[in-house]
Amino acid sequence: MAYDYDLISIGGGSGGIALSNRAASYGARCLIIEQDTRMGGTCVNRGCVPKKAMWYAADMAHALRDAPAYGFDVNQSTFDWATFISKREKYISNINNYYVSAFEKNGVDTAYGHARLVDEHTVSVNGKNYTAERIALAPGGVPTVPDIAGKELGITSDGFFELQQLPKKVLVLGAGYIAVELAGMLQALGAEVTLAVRKDKFMREFEPMLADNLAQAMQSDGVTLATQFTAAKIERINESLNVESESGETLSGFDQVIFAIGRTPSTSDLGLDAAGVNVDQRGYIPVDKFQQTNVPSIFAVGDVTGQAELTPVAIAAGRRMADRIYNAQTDRHLNYDNIATVVFSHPPIGTIGLTEAQATEQYGDDVKAYETSFNPMYMAFTDHKVRTSMKLIVVGKEERVVGCHMIGLAVDEMLQGFAVAIRMGATKQDFDDTVAIHPTSSEELVTMR
Ligand code: FAD
Ligand code: NDP
Repeated sequence: MAYDYDLISIGGGSGGIALSNRAASYGARCLIIEQDTRMGGTCVNRGCVPKKAMWYAADMAHALRDAPAYGFDVNQSTFDWATFISKREKYISNINNYYVSAFEKNGVDTAYGHARLVDEHTVSVNGKNYTAERIALAPGGVPTVPDIAGKELGITSDGFFELQQLPKKVLVLGAGYIAVELAGMLQALGAEVTLAVRKDKFMREFEPMLADNLAQAMQSDGVTLATQFTAAKIERINESLNVESESGETLSGFDQVIFAIGRTPSTSDLGLDAAGVNVDQRGYIPVDKFQQTNVPSIFAVGDVTGQAELTPVAIAAGRRMADRIYNAQTDRHLNYDNIATVVFSHPPIGTIGLTEAQATEQYGDDVKAYETSFNPMYMAFTDHKVRTSMKLIVVGKEERVVGCHMIGLAVDEMLQGFAVAIRMGATKQDFDDTVAIHPTSSEELVTMR
């Protein structure tokens, strides 16, 4: 049968864009459909990019705080949110435009509107049907909003990026990446922040020393940490938002409440039933190692598959899928092990591989941990001290490195190179045999005893 396209991708975010461009580069006839008016998806419009811009701004606030200790007479006291936001949005719109021109250059057709599957080879958008030999689902997800009274009074990370002014007093609810990143940035830029978690700590899935160190650093920056707090009700009294927990405790006086409690895959209105595509209980689309769903002509990439919800993961999965199908790289697929990730908190966290507990579960007594904690040289001059901590997890007699966890100044830029070594199977001896770069913090990783 003759199809309109070789490949239709639903979703113009990290996964869909990477897949379409790579497939088109091999000559595939591609259509990409995006429901937003802007291409780029979550990362570009409401995620990594605006977040990292704000993280740089927050980092600058930290540097200004430290500057007098280095002998500078700094009189800075205010942050012009509106000026910065307008620059940030201009930067984002340049990326949006770049994507559109790249599609034109690569010969990828575009359509704007909400797409739904009609059958296993057909997609409808704006009342028009398009057919393709293969369809890729890359609709990502949306922030989860808790089902509590007054939930409409809160905002999510999407709303955070729409704020026209810096809120004065903010409550962040949640315990993962977004909660600690937003809380840290808002505090640095001048808001008074409370971060409330429903258990005893945040980032419980990470190596414990990371969360412990971050909690200490955030509190010393002025963030208030509330634990065992599960929000049950939000009320506005006069101009103030008050939040009551399930146990009756109240946190009050906020002008913004931000939910950062995870994301929900965008699969409820995708026509999955019409094409017979399975979803799991949480709404994610299960795929095999080739990103194929239970329907042979339908694939899924990115956050919607529920595996490591990160932009480079969505991109890598999409590109490898195109390499395999349209460039005869027969077994090309993404290996989801050993994916490095950075949390853009203050200070940042960099982590790859197994935690000590996961390694012990997998390898038993054959696990050893090397740890170090120090004041980086930058802090030798500052009044405000933030320690750097690092932990290497190794297994077996050969001491193969299976986990690397760091928190501190500049670890965000340190991790990528070590990730290559760890992926290649580096041992502790390989680390030790690598001559250090001095004076840096990263040298501590190759001099641990
Ligand atoms: P998305 O980028 O979400 O794209 C999906 C697109 O599909 C969207 O544009 C959506 O409008 C569209 N769509 C949905 N349904 C339909 C439909 N039916 N028809 C047409 N279009 C549809 N990751 C990192 O690696 N580093 C970071 O620093 C980082 N920071 C983040 C910060 C925040 C605040 C958030 C929310 C996320 C962050 N992420 C980060 C995660 C990253 O943004 C996602 O992993 C990535 O965007 C996933 O790409 P995707 O292609 O799967 O989905
Ligand atoms: P996460 O999945 O990282 O964390 C959400 C956490 O919130 C949960 O782990 C849970 O922790 C807590 N939680 C869940 N439900 C509730 C509830 N009802 N009330 C209070 N707390 C709750 O989600 P995020 O929204 O932070 O981020 C989504 C994903 O986006 C991340 O997992 C990551 O993959 C990606 N991302 C990546 C970034 C990066 O690379 N730097 C930055 C931002 C996002 P607990 O069980 O301890 O309560």
